[in-house]
Amino acid sequence: MSGKLYVVGTPIGNLEDMSVRAVKTLQEVDFIAAEDTRVTLKLLNHFEIKKPMVSYHEHNAREKGGEIITRLLSGQTCAIVTDAGMPCISDPGEDLVRLCAENGIDTVVIPGPSAAISALALSGLSTSKFVFEGFLNPQKNARLERLEELKREKRTIIFYEAPHKLCDTLSAMYQVLGDRKITLARELTKIYEEVIRTTLSQAVALFEEKAPKGEFVLVVEGMVEEEQSLTFEQALELIQALVDKGEPLSKAAKDVARQTGFKKGELYSRFLAE
Ligand code: SAM
Repeated sequence: MSGKLYVVGTPIGNLEDMSVRAVKTLQEVDFIAAEDTRVTLKLLNHFEIKKPMVSYHEHNAREKGGEIITRLLSGQTCAIVTDAGMPCISDPGEDLVRLCAENGIDTVVIPGPSAAISALALSGLSTSKFVFEGFLNPQKNARLERLEELKREKRTIIFYEAPHKLCDTLSAMYQVLGDRKITLARELTKIYEEVIRTTLSQAVALFEEKAPKGEFVLVVEGMVEEEQSLTFEQALELIQALVDKGEPLSKAAKDVARQTGFKKGELYSRFLAE
C-alpha cells in the first residue's frame, strides 16, 4: 500500500501560529521534505520534534521528487514544509503534489497561515473577489508587460515582493496602473508588523525617503470603473496634476496615455496647445 503526502502549513513569523495538527503530523510522519533543512530544524527544535529530513527545493525538485515518490509508493508517509507559510504557494510543493496525483498517492492538507490571505484580510480593500499574482518578473520589460495585462483587472490583486525590489515594483505599478489604493502588509505576525494603507503615488514617495526593510505583501485595488471611461479633458487634467507635482511633461503624458488608452502624442500636443 502506498503512503501519504501531508502538505503542512507553517508560521510566517510567529511560532505560536503553528497548529496542533501540524505539530502532530510532523511528529508522526516517517520523514519531512523541507525547502531549507536548516530553517525547518529550528522549527522542529522549538517543538522538540526529531525527524529525518530531505531537502526539497526548486533546484532539486526533479531529482528529489522521484526519490520521495519512490518512498511514498513503498508505504512511507512524508510531510512537505517550506521556510514559512503554505507550501505550493509561491513555494515548492506544486510538482510533488502533481506527482502524487499521477501516482495515485493520497495527499492531505494541514492548513496554516499564508502571507497572501493574511495581508488581504487586513488590507481594507475588497476581499469578495481577488486574484493572487505572486512575484512579478524582476526583468523590467516583462514586469511592465505583465502589469499592462493586469491593468483592467477589477478584482483586488495580491503580489509578493522582496524588499530590495520594492521601490522599482511600486514605480512600475504607479506608471502602469495609475494612482490606485494599495495596502502594504509588512512583517506580518512579527515584532515589526505594519499595515500601510495608502496610494501608489504615496507609496513610491514613502520608500524614496526610507529604504524598505522586511517582508512585504502588496495588495492593490482592482480597476475602478471610472478609469475605463475617462474623457480626454479629464486625461489632460491628470497630466496637469502630475506636472504640478514636478513630473516632466513627456513622462506625465506617457503615464496618462498608458492609464487611459489615449495616444501620448495627442495628449502631449493638446496639453501644450491649451
Ligand atoms: N508560501 C508562503 C505563504 O504561503 O505565505 C509564501 C512564500 S514566498 C517565497 C515569500 C514571500 O511571502 C515574501 O517575499 C513576502 O512577499 C511574503 N511573506 C512571507 N512572510 C511574510 C510576512 N510575515 N509578512 C509579509 N509578507 C510575507
